[in-house]
Amino acid sequence: MRAAVLHETGQEKLEVLDDVEAVGFGPGKVRLRIRATGLCHSDLSAMSGVLPQPAPFVPGHEGAGEVLDVGDGVTGLSAGDRVLVCWLPACGVCPSCRRGQTHLCLAGFMNAGTPNFKRPGGDVFGFAGTGTFAEEVVVDAACAVPVPDDVPFEIAALIGCGVTTGLGAAINTAQVEAGSSVAVIGCGGVGISAIQGARARGAAQIVAVDPVASRREAALRFGATEAVAPGELDDAKQRITGGEGFDYVFEVVGRSATARTAYDTTRRGGTLCVVGAGAMDDHLQLNMFELFFDEKRILPSMFGGGDVLRSYERAVALWRAGRIDLESMITHRVRLDGVNDALDQMRTGESLRTCIEL
Ligand SMILES: [Zn+2]
Ligand SMILES: [Zn+2]
Repeated sequence: MRAAVLHETGQEKLEVLDDVEAVGFGPGKVRLRIRATGLCHSDLSAMSGVLPQPAPFVPGHEGAGEVLDVGDGVTGLSAGDRVLVCWLPACGVCPSCRRGQTHLCLAGFMNAGTPNFKRPGGDVFGFAGTGTFAEEVVVDAACAVPVPDDVPFEIAALIGCGVTTGLGAAINTAQVEAGSSVAVIGCGGVGISAIQGARARGAAQIVAVDPVASRREAALRFGATEAVAPGELDDAKQRITGGEGFDYVFEVVGRSATARTAYDTTRRGGTLCVVGAGAMDDHLQLNMFELFFDEKRILPSMFGGGDVLRSYERAVALWRAGRIDLESMITHRVRLDGVNDALDQMRTGESLRTCIEL
């Protein structure tokens, strides 16, 4: 079957090959036919080495498709079911899961060192234990989450990562208050989802911050009340908050420089919510005086910051009710052969989400 493979970490292009086989099927596993996958910024970060990931590997972790086969002992799933791929499956029994913080379960990472694919050249890993830039993939049953039949594959795929991450940051982690002021730094798919989450919570002002003009224009369509380039953020802070700073600032880039800007843009006693996935050697510096004196709450948000299945259900409910717009987030579509175009569209900021149809 066909899959897009990154041969070595640091390479910029994927090779679409037709000699790849999904491996590992057996008890507790399911075999999926992937139908749609989004390209998430984390895929680029894994390709460049910012996020740890053994190579060669098939990127993609934001996917949806159909169940082809279920292994022994799998309950609640059968062939033909429509599912989204959850790259962070919950084991249900560890201390994090028992607290309801299934987004902090580490069980899924235990499989990260096990190849999901093979080809004549040898083993091939799947990014984050999944690898959805492939027609088929074998995953743990907990990674295949059933979705209702009225949810198209492309929408289900987005809910599998970017939408859940951004919505959850606003709803679960920051718990944006009605009437508050919000700034969102970084307006790709996750940032747009944070904007939609802040709007759903009733924020009064939502300022979108992004260097790319097309993303600023898009942010206004998804609920931002104003959109500015990074150099104009200070001015917006003065105008909108009287210089005090925003009640909530979302950092959706994953760099210490933007996190520092976000900290400085948050009002005293306000909330800085860190959503971007950054590098292990990129350090955020705060001095001990400002840390205690300004009492800004620094709240990291990992994959939506709450129970993962609940977050999926909520995204579906908000989408069905027309309170969030997921269709318009898909600005580009390609087939698997166009995967390198999708990478370029993401790098330049031209796309919010490119959907790869398989
Ligand atoms: Zn667990
Ligand atoms: Zn992702």
